[in-house]
Amino acid sequence: MPLSVFDLFTVGIGPSSSHTVGPMRAASSFLTLLGDSLGSVADIKVDVFGSLAATGAGHGTFDAILLGLEGCKPESVEANELSARRTRMSETGKIILGDAIGDGVELNFAEDDMVKRPLTILPRHTNAMTITAFDGSGATLAEETYYSVGGGFVTSETEFAEKEKAAEAVDEDSEFAVSDSVVEAELASYSEELPYPFHSAVELLAQCETHGMSVAELMLANEKSMRDEDEIRHGLLHIYSVMEECASASLDRSGYLPGGLKVRRRAHDWYLKLKAEDPDHSSAYYLEWVNLIAMAVNEENASGGRVVTAPTNGAAGIIPAVLHYALNYVEVVVEKGEAGKHAAIVDFLLTSAAIGVLYKERASISGAEVGCQGEVGSASSMAAGGLAAIMGGTPEQVENAAEIAMEHNLGLTCDPISGLVQIPCIERNAIAAGKAINASRMALWGDGQHRVSLDEVIETMRQTGADMSSKYKETAQGGLAVNVVEC
Ligand code: SF4
Repeated sequence: MPLSVFDLFTVGIGPSSSHTVGPMRAASSFLTLLGDSLGSVADIKVDVFGSLAATGAGHGTFDAILLGLEGCKPESVEANELSARRTRMSETGKIILGDAIGDGVELNFAEDDMVKRPLTILPRHTNAMTITAFDGSGATLAEETYYSVGGGFVTSETEFAEKEKAAEAVDEDSEFAVSDSVVEAELASYSEELPYPFHSAVELLAQCETHGMSVAELMLANEKSMRDEDEIRHGLLHIYSVMEECASASLDRSGYLPGGLKVRRRAHDWYLKLKAEDPDHSSAYYLEWVNLIAMAVNEENASGGRVVTAPTNGAAGIIPAVLHYALNYVEVVVEKGEAGKHAAIVDFLLTSAAIGVLYKERASISGAEVGCQGEVGSASSMAAGGLAAIMGGTPEQVENAAEIAMEHNLGLTCDPISGLVQIPCIERNAIAAGKAINASRMALWGDGQHRVSLDEVIETMRQTGADMSSKYKETAQGGLAVNVVEC
């Protein structure tokens, strides 16, 4: 299936798309695999590998797996339901398998029963988990290994094997030969299903030029092959409304973030101060507002609240913060009123998503795979492209803005203290949002011609991530995670 804007922007829960949203999705999809045998399950085993095991405690991974096994889904579960289930599970040491989707089966199973193997990295991906269900005689009813590959995306071992088969079936004479990777086979199928396919920024620009479209128009035309235009526009405005609700819920909260690091929520106090000093949203304070929105969203994410994965949870504050800038400070948007704002939100998210597709397809948006450059760097690049489009940039200027933002996030490591998505993550979102705005403004001062292409910088990010020590890839074994006293 081609990647949609609604794959890049999904509603989920904090604190991590790869370590919370993905594992919950994986565990709930195991129930589908069980199907009618769910009622016969007498015992369950969960093995958690690599980065998921190493930083799972700080990311709420084990809790998310238990909730997923009860049938909870990150996009729909309500906060009070999560809290009621957590309380019951911790008091009883039991889960009710499939409870949220029908008649559940009570099992003695708790976080301590999971087998955690932080030093075992499965060949396909570091974020891996295997779930096995047994009947009363000890016979295996179902077993599957799931990989949480970033941004809440989950691929099972079975799906990987199917993609490998598809790769073998690709015509040897084509650009995507048998010897090429599974990813290339995916790209080949991607091209078959969309009216305006693109595998690279060069192809994206060529499609825009040939058909006289902006990046947003091209992405919209591709989306329309999957759903109708009204649904797309409403869906994107809904995504934005969840971003707004997330920030405003956070601005109401004070106190400390969970996890024991004693990180204080700052957005609430900053908001009161900023409202008093700058009641009219003057341009003199634009950066303070941008910082505030980024930090508010990420504080909400860190406390397990509802967020939009954009394209990951750790980087969820960047796009809302840059959108806040677009809607409040970009004159061509502000002067058109409410209708102008709606159009700008849609164009911003479509343009950002087109750039996000390139990162997802050609490199990675997973901190566990390529470090924080894949999460915060990709989000900053997506936001820069989206903003450049709203500010009237040509497709070439959009590509330039996205390139500048990533070029100056290259090498960014992932080293969260205690594995919690708090330090450096929260402030880093604010810094990256500012970088995205600067990148857009730089690109708009140029004519779109530039020395380093977006494709080159994406490939550089991929290679840098591959060379990066695993200590800096969401394992909490290097960097700030080992140099800062935890309390
Ligand atoms: S350092 Fe970056 S990649 Fe790592 S958890 Fe924080 S936001 Fe995510």
